Amino acid sequence: MSEQIRPRRNRTAVENTQARPILWIVIPCYNEEQVLPMTAPLFLKKLRQLEEDGRISRSSRILFVNDGSTDRTWEIIKELAGEYPEILGICQSRNRGHQNAVLAGLMEARERCDITISIDCDGQDDPDAMDEMVDKYLAGAEVVYGVRSRRETDTWFKRTTAEGFYRLMKLMGAEVVFNHADYRLISSKVLHHFADFEEVNIFLRGMVPLVGFPSDTVYYERNVRLAGESHYPLRKMIALAFNGITSLSVKPISLISGAGIGFSIIGLILMIWAIIQAILGHTVAGWTSTICIICLLGGIQLISLGVLGQYIGKTYLETKRRPRYIISARTWEKEERRWIESEKADP
Ligand code: UDP
Ligand code: MG
Repeated sequence: MSEQIRPRRNRTAVENTQARPILWIVIPCYNEEQVLPMTAPLFLKKLRQLEEDGRISRSSRILFVNDGSTDRTWEIIKELAGEYPEILGICQSRNRGHQNAVLAGLMEARERCDITISIDCDGQDDPDAMDEMVDKYLAGAEVVYGVRSRRETDTWFKRTTAEGFYRLMKLMGAEVVFNHADYRLISSKVLHHFADFEEVNIFLRGMVPLVGFPSDTVYYERNVRLAGESHYPLRKMIALAFNGITSLSVKPISLISGAGIGFSIIGLILMIWAIIQAILGHTVAGWTSTICIICLLGGIQLISLGVLGQYIGKTYLETKRRPRYIISARTWEKEERRWIESEKADP
């Protein structure tokens, strides 16, 4: 096994002797003890089928990322890794959220493979779309986005809020692929460049397009979760949208500036009106309008301060340069150490 997972550097599919890319499937898992035993065999079946079809190398792997689960998820991953040589696992020292878990997996994988595919572990994203993803990579795309063609299986509420999320992102100047979440193929070449994006507040689906390189899309139907519950209630979706917008775009600041100009003009007109009222001796009416203006401007100023505060808060966090993930354990740690030692003894 040590032979198969040894770190590989700057190797692309073209350089690969068999011209078959090594694929690592990266799967974040947070408290998924119910769903993991159901979906792990599906991912394994898919990996083996892709190998048999000759699309990918036989050294391909599945990498489960345990995102600080409090249930038996990590135990299940370790059991799977012990049973199947294709399955590997890493464990984050605590829960850091879906985006950081995917990032941790991708950064671990990039030195050891030619391509990665990130997919949720709950069976909602159709693994069969991977065939087309790999085909599009072989045809020249460095990034292939999985896009949901239909959302019939989602509830009306989830569908409406999720689609509203993408529209809001676009309106606010954050470039994201419509109805694409985090099911995507990324080549290790793109990941090497992606590693240079050192920000702490990460929003992968908005950041990957920023790296550039040729990209393509694959459409698939979204299924219902096979077991367990979603970790993305409305509160977390709003937080994700807010994080995405403020991490990727300064459009809200421009909008505030625009609103500021608009309200200043209205204020000016009201001032002229108030002066005319005063000249005419209708001072009681003037008092009402003054109160209105104070309330209106007070509210706008507060909202503006709040949004500006978000940016200042982010700048503050970025200056700390905290590590984006800390991995506390790896299923192959012993083998890797043995390999490094043997490499030292026999360079
Ligand atoms: N997830 C994670 N860390 C978290 C929350 C979720 O790694 O803090 C994983 C989760 O196990 C799943 C994926 O992210 O594989 C998507 O989560 P979920 O299915 O709950 O979101 P939804 O599909 O409902 O948007
Ligand atoms: Mg899900």
